Amino acid sequence: MANNKRDYYEVLGVGKGASPDEIKKAYRKLAMEYHPDRNKAPDAEEKFKEISEAYGVLSDDTKKSQYDRFGHAGIDMKYTQEDIFRGVDFDSVFRDFGFGGFDIFDSIFGGRRRREGPAAGADLEYGLEISFEEAASGTEKEINVPRTETCGTCGGSGAKPGTSPRTCPTCGGAGQVTRTQNTPFGKFMSSTTCGTCRGTGRVIDTPCPDCRGSGAVRRSRKIMVKVPAGVDTGSSLRISGAGEGGVRGGPPGDLYVHIYVKPHKFFTRAGNDLILEVPVSFVQAALGDEIEVPTLKETIKLKIPAGTQGGSVFRIRGRGIPDIYGHGKGDMHVRVSVVVPSRLTERQKELLREFAEIGGESQKKGKGIFQKVAEGVKERL
Ligand SMILES: [Zn+2]
Ligand SMILES: [Zn+2]
Repeated sequence: MANNKRDYYEVLGVGKGASPDEIKKAYRKLAMEYHPDRNKAPDAEEKFKEISEAYGVLSDDTKKSQYDRFGHAGIDMKYTQEDIFRGVDFDSVFRDFGFGGFDIFDSIFGGRRRREGPAAGADLEYGLEISFEEAASGTEKEINVPRTETCGTCGGSGAKPGTSPRTCPTCGGAGQVTRTQNTPFGKFMSSTTCGTCRGTGRVIDTPCPDCRGSGAVRRSRKIMVKVPAGVDTGSSLRISGAGEGGVRGGPPGDLYVHIYVKPHKFFTRAGNDLILEVPVSFVQAALGDEIEVPTLKETIKLKIPAGTQGGSVFRIRGRGIPDIYGHGKGDMHVRVSVVVPSRLTERQKELLREFAEIGGESQKKGKGIFQKVAEGVKERL
């Protein structure tokens, strides 16, 4: 990745010691401001991607600690050290990294633009936390969104049912009063907002009891949110028309649901790929074995070949996260860590000493991992 990247903390405008909450808040504020759907500045999209990427790293404990220690190079390190991640398709690991939000809007909701108009309702935001599994499989969530709605009792007119607002007698419904002054230089005309109707052009004699004449009420509304499979932290969904109600017949605003995915106990995610670290005993690694490995759906069997080195990665195709655009699924990468036993019986020690002695006779062939492990054990005895 490029070296001329801006510091992630600087991108989000927070200090190095910022708490997860402060980081989340800063991200949400900036994401709303620079969302290319709302911000038409030419560099808004670039900026939005930068913000999403910074948040993708700083909101992830592992990535954040690597970034804190090594800077941008630390983020790449995990995936580019071939000796650690043998067999990983690096392009696929980084596919989609941190850029979920913008594209999802347009592909899922058809890119509907907000209607212009002075009486349009305001947009609302909602932060939705989902589990790792829910992000992988997709889910439906019912959320409670408090918002201002058109009063159902009066239909937004503000007048008590059975009555109706009448045209303002002062301004004749124009909402403005024009005064004409005769001066030595000619007629001067000036317009001011009508004081009787405060510019609405209508007068309500009997206000609606539910909204006290405003035509709008505050109500919490249950909204079903369809979260598509493959979302990640930083993804946002737009639900058209679920924002604040419009004023006097204006269109409602939109609801933006920002997704936060809780980390998994065992799996980590890189784009659509899953990474799982599985400990095996040094005997299993040396002699080979068939082990059981959890995927997101079920447990599968994985063959560990004889002579497997610690850090080896096995790719299981199609067991990752579904692509949010429907382009298949990512892979699962199982990284093997070889566990050296810390407690041995006398008999086991004896066998290992014997093993080491036999190994010592063929040292000119070079030391295999099994031998190194055995020697390591010997040194600790
Ligand atoms: Zn009302
Ligand atoms: Zn008036």
